[in-house]
Amino acid sequence: SSSYLLPWVNYCKRMLLKLGCELHIRRHQTLGSAPMPVASHSMRHVRALDEERLMEVEWEDGGQSLYPFTWLRDNCQCPHCTLRSAEARLLLMADLDIHTGMDSVEVTKDSKVSIVWPDQHMSVFDAEWLKKRCFSDAARQAMQEELFLNERYYWDATLRIPQVDFQEVLHDDGAALAWLLALRRVGIVHLKGAPAEQGQVARLAERIGYLRLTFYGHTWQVQDKSMANNVAYTSGKLSLHTDYPALHFAPGVQFLHCINQAKEGGESEVVDGFHMAEQLQREDPEAFRTLTSLRVDFTDTGTDYCDFMLQSKNRIIE
Ligand SMILES: [Zn+2]
Repeated sequence: SSSYLLPWVNYCKRMLLKLGCELHIRRHQTLGSAPMPVASHSMRHVRALDEERLMEVEWEDGGQSLYPFTWLRDNCQCPHCTLRSAEARLLLMADLDIHTGMDSVEVTKDSKVSIVWPDQHMSVFDAEWLKKRCFSDAARQAMQEELFLNERYYWDATLRIPQVDFQEVLHDDGAALAWLLALRRVGIVHLKGAPAEQGQVARLAERIGYLRLTFYGHTWQVQDKSMANNVAYTSGKLSLHTDYPALHFAPGVQFLHCINQAKEGGESEVVDGFHMAEQLQREDPEAFRTLTSLRVDFTDTGTDYCDFMLQSKNRIIE
């Protein structure tokens, strides 16, 4: 979802289109409904440590995992506690005994963990399901890697911006995935080969999700306008900035489409805000502390798609 995507520092000149969009990445598998591979993680033994209120699983390939009683009861996968079709909990917090004990626990013939709770409610967990949710640092790390959450590349002026073909992204799933992975890793991708006419950013966004409406409309034209309600709508130079700090949910990704290149000037400049923040933290920790803690007022007022007057309080570096 959009929360994976990077806040964006950019600089744009006239004759560019831009829009905010939430990316919806459909992963090849989801956490709850992963197809069960051949049981590669079988259990040797399982027992309840009543004193610590932990269940211990000993794995066939060595190593143990510990699961808190309360966490297991809270995550019961039975049809009374979990709505399968939604992969969502049905169990009410009010019905959860956070001090629960465990009556019995055993490994079943088909290699699942079967638990009977004091009120005789029964929970059954797959070995794979438990293994995946092991609380150890190593298992958490593996989960992060599976979700590609560690893949980040911080860059400077030596960056060679990843390039992909616009038409290929529109028509080929492999190209679209490569584009999205590059976008998440680097934060910026240059798509080439889009027709030089309006409507292309919407085509691209709809390929993977939906446009997010703002008070500037679904999409908007960045051009020199009289009575401009945004400095981007003037012919002057813009300095580096972050867009939409006044919004409560800043855009995860922006698309800008150059339809008509200016005869003179019009260069786009971008900066990796993560790289800058990391550098600042190293070189001036005091400044970094200030910028990550002090909340600043942002406002945006005017008329466009609708009348608007927004106000937010945000840190310069989130
Ligand atoms: Zn249940």
